[in-house]
Amino acid sequence: MGNRYFGFLLIFVFTSPSVCLWGQSTEAGGAAGKGEKFSIVIHGGAGSSAANASPEQVKKRKASLKKALDRGVEILSSGGAALDAVESVLRILEDDPQFNAGKGAVFNAAGDHELDASIMDGRTQACGAVAGVKIVKNPISLARLVMSETRHVLLAGPGAEEFAKEQGVELVPTDYFDTIGAKKSWERYKLKMSGLNKIKDGKVESSWKMGTVGCVALDRQGDLAAGTTTGGMTYKKFGRIGDSPIVGAGTYADNATCGVSATGIGEQYIRNAVAYDVSAQMKYKGVTLQAAVDDNLRRRLNKNDGGLIAIDKDGNIAMGFNTAGMARAAADSEGRYEVIWGDAVGNRRQ
Ligand code: ASP
Repeated sequence: MGNRYFGFLLIFVFTSPSVCLWGQSTEAGGAAGKGEKFSIVIHGGAGSSAANASPEQVKKRKASLKKALDRGVEILSSGGAALDAVESVLRILEDDPQFNAGKGAVFNAAGDHELDASIMDGRTQACGAVAGVKIVKNPISLARLVMSETRHVLLAGPGAEEFAKEQGVELVPTDYFDTIGAKKSWERYKLKMSGLNKIKDGKVESSWKMGTVGCVALDRQGDLAAGTTTGGMTYKKFGRIGDSPIVGAGTYADNATCGVSATGIGEQYIRNAVAYDVSAQMKYKGVTLQAAVDDNLRRRLNKNDGGLIAIDKDGNIAMGFNTAGMARAAADSEGRYEVIWGDAVGNRRQ
C-alpha cells in the first residue's frame, strides 16, 4: 500500500508541469546558463553598404544603435526580462528618424506610411503583431499589447488602430512619420516607375531603403524574446504586408532553440518561413545557430535578399546578411560589445 502511494507521488512529481523540482520552477526559462548569462543583438536593416554613406551618416547611425544597445544591456544586466529589453530597444529606434520604423518609415506607392511590427516570447510562444497601422507612434508596443491583451496574434489596419485607441497608446498625425530622406527615396522610386525601365509588378528593387529594426534578447532567467518593426519597402503597394509582422517569417522565438529577427525583401522571408526555419533546423537537424543562419542566407534565400540576427538558448549570437551591408550591434554578459555598419562579417552568397 505504502509503495503504491509512493509510486503515484513520483508519477505526479515528474509529470506535473507546474510542480517545483529541487526548488526550481519548471515553468520558467530552461536555458543553459540560467541566472548568469544575457545576450542582446540588434539590426538596423540590411541593404546598402556603409561605403555609400557619408562618414557623418555612419557615425550618427552607429551612435543611435549604441544608445539602443546600452538601454537593452541596462535592462538585461539588472535582471530585467528579454521582452522588456526588446520592446524598449525597438521603441528608441522607432523614435529615431534615421531608421525605417516609426518616425522614419518609408512611403508607400500612395504616398502614405503603413507600419508593421511583431514581438514574440520564447518562453510561452505568445506573440503579437500589427500590420498597416498609420497613426500609432510605436507599433512594437501595440504588437506587445495584442500579445498580452487579446486572444489574437495579428491585428491589421483600422481594427488595429481601434484597438490602439482602446489601449490608450500614443497616436500621432500621419505626417508625423514624414522625413526628408524617406520622401527623396519615394520620389526617386516614383520617377523610376514612370520611366522606361519600369519595374515589373511584383518585382522589387534590391537597393531598398535600409533601416528596418529588429532586436533579439536572452535574459538572465534564460528567456528569449524577439521583435521586428518597419515601415516596409519604399513604394510598396498600399495594403502590402511584409514579413516583419508575420511570426515565423520576420520574427520567431523559442526558448528551446533561439530567437530570430529578419530584415530584407519581406516576400522572400515569408515564402521561405525564414525565422522559423532557423529554429526548426536547430530543433530537428541539431545544427548550430550559426549553421542555420548561414544556410538560410546562402542556400534558401537569394543574394541581396537581406539579413538575420539571432541568439540561441545558450547566448550565442549570430548576425549575417547577403546584401552589401547591415547595421548591427551586439553585447553579452561575457563582455562582448560591438556596434557595426560595414561588410566585414557578412554572409554574401557567392
Ligand atoms: N522586411 C521588411 C519588409 O519587407 C523590409 C526591410 O527589412 O527592410 O517589409
